[in-house]
Amino acid sequence: MNKGLLIIISGPSGVGKGTVIKEFIDDPELNLSFSVSMTTREMREGEVDGVNYDYVTKEEFKQAIENGELLEWAEFVGNYYGTPLKNVEKKRSEGKNVLLEIETDGCRQVQKKCPDAITIFIVPPSIEELEKRIRGRKSEPEEIVQQRLDKARKEMDLLKYYKYVVCNDEVDIAADIIRVIIRKHMERQRNAEQ
Ligand code: 5GP
Repeated sequence: MNKGLLIIISGPSGVGKGTVIKEFIDDPELNLSFSVSMTTREMREGEVDGVNYDYVTKEEFKQAIENGELLEWAEFVGNYYGTPLKNVEKKRSEGKNVLLEIETDGCRQVQKKCPDAITIFIVPPSIEELEKRIRGRKSEPEEIVQQRLDKARKEMDLLKYYKYVVCNDEVDIAADIIRVIIRKHMERQRNAEQ
């Protein structure tokens, strides 16, 4: 059996990564497994522990770093986020295509360790639209919104490090484009195997 693909999706906060991913994550043809990250940020309304993230304390997070349990990690607007290595390795060795939804620093770390990772950056149709989406969430104070917007502008400069750039103007279309990218890579892997 082939080892599963490693797919990384990044994009500025508020671009709708989660909404786009939801459209195709359960598509049986894509054989995907979503990597649940560890975070120290507070749970948002509607989120579920162990599904959206594993919510941990800063101490638990630091321990995970010290124990070498994370494939990558980064600080984002005052909180830590990281990818548990064990789950990724386990799923890939079972042949599952593992999908990471992580920010740009984390992606660079993974690219160094796994140069064959398929990297996709989702962009908004415009910065104005992004600001509207971040504000529309209404879950965070103005100070955090500003920090997320600053970070978003900086992240947009890093899309050059990604293999594919997909605009999320219409969710179903963005999801379909990503479906095609994943299918093509699966096909290539199958052909290489023969
Ligand atoms: P949010 O607080 O909006 O859920 O996530 C903030 C940012 O952290 C997003 O850009 C998201 O992609 C990123 N993120 C989520 N999980 C991870 C992770 O495990 N590692 C890294 N580096 N970034 C993550």
